Amino acid sequence: MKIIDIIKGNKPSLSFEVFPPKTFDSLETVRRVTEEIADLRPGYMSVTYGAGGSTDIYTPEIASCIAARGVTPLAHLSCIGATEEKVSSILAELKRRGIDNVLALRGDLPEGVEKHEGVYRFASDLVAKIRDVGGFCIGGACYPEGHPESASLGEDIRNLKIKADAGCEFLTTQMFFDNEIIYGFMDKLAAAGITVPVVPGIMPVTNAKQIIRITSISGNALPKKFMRIIDRYGDNPEAMKQAGIAFAIEQIIDLYAGGFNAVHVYSMNKPDVARSIQSGMAKILGI
Ligand code: FAD
Repeated sequence: MKIIDIIKGNKPSLSFEVFPPKTFDSLETVRRVTEEIADLRPGYMSVTYGAGGSTDIYTPEIASCIAARGVTPLAHLSCIGATEEKVSSILAELKRRGIDNVLALRGDLPEGVEKHEGVYRFASDLVAKIRDVGGFCIGGACYPEGHPESASLGEDIRNLKIKADAGCEFLTTQMFFDNEIIYGFMDKLAAAGITVPVVPGIMPVTNAKQIIRITSISGNALPKKFMRIIDRYGDNPEAMKQAGIAFAIEQIIDLYAGGFNAVHVYSMNKPDVARSIQSGMAKILGI
């Protein structure tokens, strides 16, 4: 099934993300957690692509594992440093496996590199390539608070329009912790003529130290309500996990109420977190 049909469907969709193993040794573990999450019957599941193509074998493998469980997979693919042959061979592999949804990404620049000069400079170049191959539903990433390399949110949105015009059919957002940010972002996208559906990406914070480190790099705004939770429960892992899940559920319920039909959860290979979030809104999801 094409993800765009799930996003535009008549019932709210909750989807989950997993990341593939880096080595063969942990393939079985990742396969097991992937199946556990798939058995929750989410709207779809995405599989990330390791930096610089480091999981090129395992991303399609885990995507197949999701499909075998009866759930629609979305395979991430990044293009930074990749040759055209490499990208073609991965797309052929995805086709061979019957996987027809791809999240087209640029990937992060290697440390110390300011500009990439390869075949694919931006995700929009990869989107165009996938569109030319044909048969895939193509998604892309977007940043409600602006991509860290962009001089301004306005500049980033102008670049996002290029990606949408190249054939990107839907966008998944970077995590954010204040829903007002995404409502404002949607108004800006509409003003820029970007009309493809946007799927908010929600990160349930279960580890205070980790999130402070991640957000110091990504530049996410951390609302006072969120900081109070970190301050109060950050040193108590079990309490932090419960509070982080509750915070994510509240964010997601508001997003559905605010008009989004699909929400993606960065479930980070944690079936218990995915299960708690889904069961915390079972009636809202109609399950
Ligand atoms: P782009 O859309 O190419 O944007 C990158 C920068 O270039 C932005 O600042 C943009 O404004 C600018 N830009 C874009 N087009 C142009 C243009 N034509 N001219 C000038 N400037 C331009 N990384 C992974 O390695 N693997 C993953 O699986 C993965 N999954 C992700 C999933 C989501 C939902 C998100 C939000 C990010 C993910 N990332 C992943 C991280 C992502 O690869 C990085 O954030 C990367 O720095 C940017 O990727 P992009 O696809 O958004 O790039």
